Amino acid sequence: MRIFPAAIPLAGKSIVFVGTGPLAEAKVRLFLSSPARLLWFCEGPAPSGFETAQNLALLHRAPRAEDFRGAALVFLAENEPARREALRALAKGEGALVNAVDQPGESDFQTPALVDREEIVIAISTGGAAPVLAVDLRAAIEQLLPQRLEGLVRLARELRGTVKRVLKDFEARRRFWERSLRGPARDLALLGDEGGARKALLKSLNAPAPEAEGIVHLVGAGPGDPELLTLRAARLLREADVIVHDRLCGEAVLTLARRDARRIPVGKAKDHHPVPQETIEALLIAEARKGQRVVRLKGGDPFIFGRGGEEVAALRAAGIAVEVTPGISAALAAAASAQIPLTHRDHAQSLTLATAVARAGAAPAQLGEGLNPSAGDHTLAIYMGVAAAQRLRSQLLASGHPPSLPLAIVENASREDERTLYGTLDALPDLVTQESVKGPAMLFLGSVVALGRASPAPTQPLAAAALA
Ligand code: SAH
Repeated sequence: MRIFPAAIPLAGKSIVFVGTGPLAEAKVRLFLSSPARLLWFCEGPAPSGFETAQNLALLHRAPRAEDFRGAALVFLAENEPARREALRALAKGEGALVNAVDQPGESDFQTPALVDREEIVIAISTGGAAPVLAVDLRAAIEQLLPQRLEGLVRLARELRGTVKRVLKDFEARRRFWERSLRGPARDLALLGDEGGARKALLKSLNAPAPEAEGIVHLVGAGPGDPELLTLRAARLLREADVIVHDRLCGEAVLTLARRDARRIPVGKAKDHHPVPQETIEALLIAEARKGQRVVRLKGGDPFIFGRGGEEVAALRAAGIAVEVTPGISAALAAAASAQIPLTHRDHAQSLTLATAVARAGAAPAQLGEGLNPSAGDHTLAIYMGVAAAQRLRSQLLASGHPPSLPLAIVENASREDERTLYGTLDALPDLVTQESVKGPAMLFLGSVVALGRASPAPTQPLAAAALA
């Protein structure tokens, strides 16, 4: 270890800055949210953007020796070497630690790249050798940290005294904090529900024999490309003890999980026996009751044709904490890949997300009905439509959709083997057969399809085309 990142408490301390220009401003800005008193000796024109700073005193003169007295840190942003040396001697004479900005050779300490989350501060330093690398590392760490970490620390600080009064024994307190800061209270705080988190903490504080407390997160895994996960989904995957996942959640997404996390596949391939829904729900409940942090990972979004609603209801009924993290649904991912805008001022004022398959393989009765196809202002995005192509075609034609309605099929959206096929409603079943569409696919119908990348259809609003 060539350098040592010491942590200096700043409450009640003063920090002195000398100099003008962007480097001085950047250093001052770093401490504006700290509890330290800031003294800035700034002989040039008054810098702007600091008017509202509560803890800052601007002095338009050169500092004297006594100005450095008792300062915890001193930053010198002074270009002129002789002047810098004189200031440094003054400050050192008063016992201060001095940083000459951009002059590592003349500094007692360096400024690390900082992840600053109020209650938690992380310093990254390359010892001045490669500051750019430190900045990139900081960005990577920022991404790993939950956004609302400080809320959790605030809560812990607030309850510290109460916990100490209730649990006299040190070991009992440690166990309590371990349980709490790794349990559902933590999950709730990180989702922004500080009230719920406080309640969970107090409940477990007052429980005579605390039971194991698990939680289930229904998490949208998106269409397959791990880059299309939300930051929260990626975090929950990293933190999960158990991952109960569908077939459509690709391996690339699952590799984001901890290596020792248990993976339980419950997915159904077409024509294979699926794990019955009740079995999945019972499994989620059983794992949570063991105190596990369970991620129920679902392709796309959990609440779009994913039976997420049923799982939430079952978990609620069992008294298990459950939270839902949205995902990018297949329709959105497929449309983005094919560059088919799902709504467009000239083409579509509404969008239907529909499934071609309802309960136990039955056809949904009203697919296409209630829409006014001849108005040509609508986009239809159909999930699970490939196997039902023949029936879909008849149903949509029967409800008045024109045979020439532009159609796009996007297969394996966001995956390596993605492809987009264009045609018309009339030709839907033939297109599926001729091109042997096998992977999961989205069907899009409507005049927006003509705007897609490499679409052969004419780009006129459908109403005009249909009525011509
Ligand atoms: N909850 C999921 C949908 C599950 S239903 C979501 O929000 O996306 C399964 C159907 O989703 C498939 O039959 C297919 O129509 C569609 N689908 C899922 N992943 C897909 C992908 N990568 N590309 C195209 N369609 C996909």
